[in-house]
Amino acid sequence: MNKQYLLDVVIPCYCEEETIPHTVPELINFLNTCIKSSEFGMQSFRLILVDDGSKDRTWSIIKDFTEKLPVKGIKLSRNYGHQSAMLAGLTIADADVVLTIDADLQDDISTIGEMLKAYQEGVDLALGVRSSRGNDSVIKKSTAIGYYKLMRAMGVNIIEDHADFRLMSRRSLDVLLAHQEVNLFLRGVIPSIGFPTKIIHYERQDREFGETKYTLRKMLGLAINGITSFSVVPLRFVAFTGAAFSFAAFVGVFWVIIVRVFFYGDVVPGWASIALPILFLGGVQLFSLGIVGEYIGKIYLEVKKRPRFVIEATTND
Ligand code: UDP
Ligand code: MG
Repeated sequence: MNKQYLLDVVIPCYCEEETIPHTVPELINFLNTCIKSSEFGMQSFRLILVDDGSKDRTWSIIKDFTEKLPVKGIKLSRNYGHQSAMLAGLTIADADVVLTIDADLQDDISTIGEMLKAYQEGVDLALGVRSSRGNDSVIKKSTAIGYYKLMRAMGVNIIEDHADFRLMSRRSLDVLLAHQEVNLFLRGVIPSIGFPTKIIHYERQDREFGETKYTLRKMLGLAINGITSFSVVPLRFVAFTGAAFSFAAFVGVFWVIIVRVFFYGDVVPGWASIALPILFLGGVQLFSLGIVGEYIGKIYLEVKKRPRFVIEATTND
């Protein structure tokens, strides 16, 4: 017996005026064929397009869609970034099943069929994992590989090459939304929810229209947020380094005493032996302070409990 359900599809859009006129009809056609085929059990669907403070015509295009298509529009008051835009859409979504996908359809939409089937089989989380990275630049590929390795070394439960193309059941979404932290790192929190999960591989396409909206700065921000939201390993590293240097200093003191007392060795009165350790230790201390500061910054933001986003306008259903 097929489960009957409603589907919400959350699509963050930042300056996507070139993309969404193609994406929305294509997705709607695909989802309509899913409704017709009884094997998916989907009764109806709605696209939730979140305008993440675009500077182009994205919002007016979204508003036009809402007049004749099953589309709901949400406009954030400024550019909050991909993750916050997605979270805004997830908060609004009230269907039984919620899917998140990027506006450029680099993620193969035929995979959605497999995700819906997985849901039918009782899976709460169907996570899309790229089996190839299309024409992503060598820098993007190698930084991604290094990043996933680093995350795992720091004990963060993150699924390699899974971005934000995923299906969530109502109850897993409710768990996600119960997280109150401002710096919510979705890619880390979602795999840790623990409900039945299925990984679905797909080939990632190249972006057909427009350009990537993920600048190096935004990627770096996401990477740092991922590590500091989930891992205290950098803090332990600071503590460990501090302890190691203190120990080395003790050994050094004993060494000097032994040389002086037992071997009558001449200690050359050189500036290098004084200046270089000061410089080196100063550097280590500054670096350590920087890492500690990163966490303190986080605590600072968390205790303020700021809203994670502000919705400026929504369209009627
Ligand atoms: N995006 C967003 N806010 C931003 C940057 C990106 O909502 O500040 C959206 C963008 O419109 C797209 C998705 O996030 O739907 C992924 O961005 P993009 O395709 O540019 O990233 P890439 O695939 O190059 O990593
Ligand atoms: Mg993309």
